[in-house]
Amino acid sequence: MKKNLDMPNIPQFKNAVIAINLDQKKKKEHIIIGDFEYVNRYLRGAKKDKIIYEKTRPFGSLLLDIQPNVNFFVDVRVMILNTKKENRANIISMIEKLYANENPVLKYIALKLWEEYNHLLRAIKEKDSGYNGMDRVEYLTLPFRHHLIHEILEWQKMTPENPLADMLYDYFLFPVQTLYVASLQHTTEFAATDFAVMPLLAYYLKNIYDNHKYFSYCKVCKKLFLSPDLNKTTICSAKCRKIQQKKNKEKYDKATRDLDYERTYRNEKMYWYNRIQKAIKRGISGKALAELQEAYEEFKRVASIMKKQVKEGTLDFGTFDMWYLDMRCEIDALMEKHGLGKYM
Ligand SMILES: [Zn+2]
Repeated sequence: MKKNLDMPNIPQFKNAVIAINLDQKKKKEHIIIGDFEYVNRYLRGAKKDKIIYEKTRPFGSLLLDIQPNVNFFVDVRVMILNTKKENRANIISMIEKLYANENPVLKYIALKLWEEYNHLLRAIKEKDSGYNGMDRVEYLTLPFRHHLIHEILEWQKMTPENPLADMLYDYFLFPVQTLYVASLQHTTEFAATDFAVMPLLAYYLKNIYDNHKYFSYCKVCKKLFLSPDLNKTTICSAKCRKIQQKKNKEKYDKATRDLDYERTYRNEKMYWYNRIQKAIKRGISGKALAELQEAYEEFKRVASIMKKQVKEGTLDFGTFDMWYLDMRCEIDALMEKHGLGKYM
C-alpha cells in the first residue's frame, strides 16, 4: 500500500498568482494572492475562494515588502533542491514558517516554492531534463537577496530621466500578465505574475516613474515617501511640513533673538564707552573718572548676566532693552554731575 506523503499545512494551489492594481490618485494599491483561476474569477464577481490574501494598502507597500534576507534565502535554495526523502520534513517546516509571515510576498513565495518542489520531484520521476529547478528557485527568491530600496535610490540618482533604464536584466526576464476587469463605467487593470516577483516590481516602478514620482526619505520623519520631484521635495506630508515650519520658526526666532540682544549689547556698551572717552579727552579729574569707570564696569557686569538670561529664555528681550534706557540715563546723569552735560 502506498504511504501518503506528508504535506505542509498551507493551501494547495495549481498556480499561485499575485495580482496588483495601482491607484496613484487615491495613493492605494490593491493586492490579491491566490490560485490564478480563482483570483481571475473573483475579480469578475465570483465568490472569494482559494484567495489567501487581499488588501488595499498605501501605495508602495509591495515594494516595502521586499527586504533583504540573504542568508535565509540562500539556505532555502539549497534546501529545496535537496529532494532526498529524509529532507522533506525540513522543507515542509521551512515552507510553513515562510507562509506564516505577515508579509504577503513571503506568503506567495512559500506557495511557489512548494509548487516548484513538487515540480522538481515530478521532473526527476519523469526524467524531464528540460526543467531547471535550480534556476526557477533562484529567480523566485532573488528579490530577497537584493536591497531593493537601496537599488531604487541608486537608479534614481544615476539615471533620473528614467531610473528603469538602470535596472538589471533580472527584472525583465519574465513577462507580467495583465488582467482587465471591465464594468460599464471603466476597465480596471491588474498586473499579475505566477512566477518571479521581479517583473511585477518593474511594472510597479514604471507606474511610479510614468507619473513623475520619485522615492525619497522624509527629512522630518525619516520615512520613505513618493516625492513629485527628485531632490526638491524632501518632506512627506502636511503633518511633517507643519513640524518643519515650527522648527524653522524656532530657529529663526532664536537667530534673530541672538542677533538682537548681541547687537543691542554692543551698541549700549559703545554708548557708555564713547562718553568715558569724551570725559578723558576733556581732562576730567582722576576721582571723577574712577567713578565713571566703576559705573561702566558695573554696567557691563549686569548687562552680561542679563544677556545670558535672554539667551536662555529666562528674561524677555523687551525688559532687557528697557533696562538699557535706564542705564543711558545713569551715565548721562553722571556726566552732567561732572560738568560734562549734553552739549559737551
Ligand atoms: Zn515625514
